[in-house]
This record gives sequence, structure tokens and C-alpha cells, in this order.
Amino acid sequence: MKKNTVFSILTCSIILFSTSCKKDTDTTESSETMSDNLLLQDYTGPYGGIPAFDKMKVEQIEPAVIAGMEQGLKDIEAIANNTAAPTFKNTIEAMERAGSGLDNVFTYYGIFGSNMSSPEFREVQGKLAPKLSEYTSKINQNEALFKRIKSVYDASQKTPLEADQQRVLELTYKRFEMNGAELDDVKKKRYAEINKELSSLYNKFGDNVLHDEENYITYLTKDQLDGLSEGFIKSAAKIATDNGKDGQYAITNTRSSMDPFLTYSTNRELRKQVWTNYYSRGDNGDEFDNNTLIAEILKLRRERVELLGYKNFAEWRLQDRMAKTPENAMQLMLAVWPAAIARVKEEVADMQTVADASGQKSDIEAWDYRYYAEKVRQKKYNLDSDEVKQYLQLDKLTEALFYTAGRLFNYKFTPVAEGKVPVFHEDVKVWEVTDLDSGKAIGLWYLDPFARPGKRSGAWATTYRSHTTLDGPKTVLASNNSNFVKAAPGEAVLISWDDAQTFFHEFGHALHFFSSNVKYPTLNGGVRDYTEFQSQLLERWLSTDEVINQFLVHNKTGEPIPASLVAKIKKASTFNQGFGTTEYLASALMDMKLHLADPENIDIDKFERETLAELKMPKELPMRHRTPHFGHVFSGEGYATAYYGYMWADVLTSDASEAFKDAPGGFYDKEVADKLVKYLFAPRNSMDPAEAFRKFRGRDAKIEALLRDRGFPVPTEN
Ligand SMILES: [Zn+2]
Repeated sequence: MKKNTVFSILTCSIILFSTSCKKDTDTTESSETMSDNLLLQDYTGPYGGIPAFDKMKVEQIEPAVIAGMEQGLKDIEAIANNTAAPTFKNTIEAMERAGSGLDNVFTYYGIFGSNMSSPEFREVQGKLAPKLSEYTSKINQNEALFKRIKSVYDASQKTPLEADQQRVLELTYKRFEMNGAELDDVKKKRYAEINKELSSLYNKFGDNVLHDEENYITYLTKDQLDGLSEGFIKSAAKIATDNGKDGQYAITNTRSSMDPFLTYSTNRELRKQVWTNYYSRGDNGDEFDNNTLIAEILKLRRERVELLGYKNFAEWRLQDRMAKTPENAMQLMLAVWPAAIARVKEEVADMQTVADASGQKSDIEAWDYRYYAEKVRQKKYNLDSDEVKQYLQLDKLTEALFYTAGRLFNYKFTPVAEGKVPVFHEDVKVWEVTDLDSGKAIGLWYLDPFARPGKRSGAWATTYRSHTTLDGPKTVLASNNSNFVKAAPGEAVLISWDDAQTFFHEFGHALHFFSSNVKYPTLNGGVRDYTEFQSQLLERWLSTDEVINQFLVHNKTGEPIPASLVAKIKKASTFNQGFGTTEYLASALMDMKLHLADPENIDIDKFERETLAELKMPKELPMRHRTPHFGHVFSGEGYATAYYGYMWADVLTSDASEAFKDAPGGFYDKEVADKLVKYLFAPRNSMDPAEAFRKFRGRDAKIEALLRDRGFPVPTEN
């Protein structure tokens, strides 16, 4: 996931909402004056300036954001009220600089929100959320400003500007139009009210999920560990000790604990308990239940787009996406769905055979899927995930990332000496990124690898500074964040094949940030169903021979992973695709259908049940994200009616990856790699994605490569 704008920062964060009726009485800083507020200052120090993560404090956030917004509004007013005739330079280019004081503030804000959240910060965030929404509305609904934008836009329809300027202009114009700039005053007021209400609901939603993640930990005793790996047990013991339950073992209510537990634990009752805790997040019928919040969110979203004259949220949202319409997105999902659920049937049949043979006297249930899938995997492919893990060391995989970046992007990564660049936690490591030949500075790469309390779950990438050349070239400060479980002292951090793929995935986002060649900040923005493509594509390099032979070595013996095991991994790569594709698509379809449905009196629980029944969702597995904890869609707007985007991007990924597969130099083919950087990475949003893909591939993407990748039948052409 990616986030570098005001809105998307809100979407990714989790907060404790508190009303802000006390006005600003408690926001004034005690002794410091505003200009002393560190968070508002330019980055200083080496590498073109770096964030002062060692000095930031939560109490600096609120005054900094408020002062930053005030300055931003002044900047905007100055542009809107300029008496000179509107030009690209005095309007659009000036807007690219407006409010830039907030950029750095949001770097710190993002760290407090995602990497080191606390009740203290969540309270501040709760107060700021509606104010930030108001700030955005004030800009998006500034009539004088929009008049000037429209005037520049209209002129450009007769006399087009240079390509990148035209693109910034069109994106800006569209953004204003989509956000209510042309509404009358009454509608504008309502529009802003809705946004403010929504921002608070999003925060509450995310907070409820976090509450249920933190408060449903399953503690095990020594006799309940059967099947679990030594490494897993050690880390579960450590978490329990950290939580004051010495001698017990903690299964936290997060994917990284739940998933391995359900895969290996032989205790069916406990599997059911852990499964139920995880898939009930936000759905426990208490004050942290999200069902009514979701109905409220859907209603407000519908009302807002109706003000703009759209039928539903999905239609409004997708117009500037690569898919363009909800119909196109649905068409793709429904084209793959039947093959996915048909494959689930086969998988369940295979598993039932194993279960029957082992003496389990009942049908496969949702909490059995991972467990028996692993048994089938071992039987059919003789592939033991834990054996594979012995060759997946975090340090070596990090080197593999650098190797890949060197071969494709010509980048060199050099570790920065500890203490030279401030970090917000001792686990965070930093590398300098330069061009391999010229030594030219590209930027810094921050890695925050380990799970800890206060850090949001999952993996993500972000920037602390993006590339632009508008006011001289800026180097990139990019970061990758994961939730790997720390190893016991003296042991290598071993991760699963899936986690290794995710590690490459997030690094793909970072490379997308680093390779940017755009002049204007707006052109760094992502197109939601396209920005996951670059990162998904990068996952493919994990299983190239070059990476396997050099970096996948055994953590004890140093021996490279045996060719026979690699062959098994490759053979097994289509294994369990029924599960993976179905659990994902069920969530993606639900996201779209929820936003196409009439939100009046919608009963979320019932809607979810009925929609799954209509789709003939197999009962043996749940959606990847059930609606009450679907943070992508309801703790913000980032992925609302956009979760399909992963598969959309996957179609591009499979197709682009066949371009490498078929090239003389394979995945390291120089010519294809050059095209990859030139058309698919460096332009970011300065080129229409469909056009960029066509330039890379010589044609539009086809769905067949995706079906082949997942081992699904490919319809024959006739
Ligand atoms: Zn991603």
C-alpha cells in the first residue's frame, strides 16, 4: 500500500476518536513559538535533509498541523485572488507548491499513526481528522481558485501545453470537478459536512478493529503446542512474557500469528477459537462493533456522489482509474470467479481424503482449511513450508532486493552507519541509494522490519520525501515496513515464502518511488488499480535462478537451497490458488457490490451473507477481509471500490512477466528491463497507464497469462 497525501494518510491510520468540541484551548504549545515547532521545519542534515525522527514528539503534531493548514490556506488564497490573468505558472504550478509546509508534518504524523501509535497520538488524530477534512474541502471548494483552474484548462483545450504540464492540469481539473468545485453553495456546504462526518467514522472504524486485535489474544499452555514449530513457540513465549504472562504462549489476533497457527496446530478446538477471534474483528456485537458504522459510511458516500450527479460511489470513483467503470472491474472479477470456486471444490476434496484418513470424523471447516492444505501440500508436493523457511533469511533476502535493484535499475545500496541518520526505533535500518555507475544520489531507504505494539499490522511502503525537479532535483526518502516476528537472540530471522514475496512487493513500491522522473509533485500520485502492478511485478524476481542460487541459503549450513526443493516450490506455486483467489475475490466483489447496492436501510450482516450465497461462496473458507474489519475500504477511502485493483494489476503483472520470460535474457534481459524502468516505473502518473503499458508491451494486457499463472484452465480462442 502506498500513502503520501493528506487523504491517504488518514485512510491508513488507526485512531481513537474523540470529539473536538473543546475548541483549540488545549492546542497551544506551552513555551515554544510556532516557528520552533520541529515538525514544520525543513529537513536538515546530510542527504539533502532528513527527518528528525529522534526529536519529534506527539505534542508537536496538533499545533504543527494547524499552523501548516493555516499557511496552506494562505497560499491558496494568494493564488485564487491573484489579479493577473490565470496562467499555468501562476495557478497550477503555484498550487503544486501550496501547502508544502504540511509535507514534512505528515511524515511525522504517518510515523506516529502507523509505526508507533499510542493512545496519546490517537486522541490528537481524532481531533485533527475533521479539521483536515475541512481543510481539504476549503481548498477543493474554493470558487475563485476553480475559476482560474477552469480558465487555464479551457485555454489548454485550444492550445495544449507541454505533455507533463497538460497532465498536471488535467489531473488537477478533474480532482476539483470530482470533489464538488462546481456545486452551488448549499450543496457545497452539505458536501463538506459529509466529508467531515466520514473522516470521523473512518477513524472510529479503524480504532474498533485495532481494539479487537489487541484484546483477543489466545494464551496457550505448554500442553497445547502440538504441531507448532520451535521458532513459532519461542516467539509466542516471548510475546506472552512481554504481556506479563510468563510461562504461557500468546497467539495474537493478527494475520501473522493466526495464519501459521491455523496451518500447524493439531488442536482443532483451539484452531476454531483463533479463527473465530480473527474473523470476528469488528463484529462482536459490542461497542466496538462496526456494522452500523459501515451502513452509515455507505449512506454518506452515496449522498455525496449524488450531489455531484453520479449514480453511485463506484461510478464516481472509477472514472479516473485504469478500469474506468465498475462494469469493467466486475467483468474481470466475474471472469475469474467460476474457475476459482471450482478449484476450491477440488482442493476441499483433496483435503477431505487426508482428513478422513487421519480419523477426523467431520467435514472440512474454515478453521481446517490451512491445516489440511498444508498436509495436502506435503503429500502432493512433498513441500514442507517450514523446511523452505530455513532458506529464507531476512538479511539474505534484503541482499536479494539490492541485487535485483542493481540488475534492473542500476542502483547500489550502501548501509548508513548507525547514528548518522535519525530513526524512530532502534530496529529501523537505513541504506544510501546511488546510481551504480555515476554514483549519483538517488536517496535513502529505511527499513522497519519487526512487529511491535503500536505498529499497524501488515506491510506497507511510504515516502518521507518524493522526487520532483520543480524547485531543483529532490532525492527520495522511501521506507518499507513489515511485521516480521523477531528471532530469539542469536538466531536468523526466518520468514515464510509468502512473506518473502510481500517483502519483494513492498520493495517494488520503493523502487517505484526511487525511479520517479517527474517534475511536478502531482505526477508522483498513484492510480489505484495501477500502482499495485509495479510492486506485484517485482515479486517475480524472488523465484528467479539468480536470486535463488545466491541468496536462498540455509541459515545453519549456508548451503544453497537444493534444486529439487526449488522445483517443488515452483510446482507448488499453483497450489491452493482456489483458496487464495477465492478469499481475495470474495472481498473484492463484496467491496464493489456494497457500493452499488441501495444503502437505505442496508443490513450489513445480512447483505454479506446473502451476497456470498448468491455468489455460491464455498462454505469452507471466509473472505480474506470480512466486511466488519475491511479496513482497506472503511477506515478510509483509499481502497473503497478499489480492492479489485489488486487483480487488475495482477493481469498486467502476469502479462508483463511473460514479456520477461520470453525475452532472450529472461528476467534480467537488458532491453526489457530498460523499457520496464522507462515506461512502467519512472513516469509514475505523468503518462496514462494504459498508454504506458502499451508502450512497454506493444499491445494491451490480456487475461490469459493470469489464468495460466494460477493454473486455471485457459479458454481456447476460436
Ligand atoms: Zn502494495
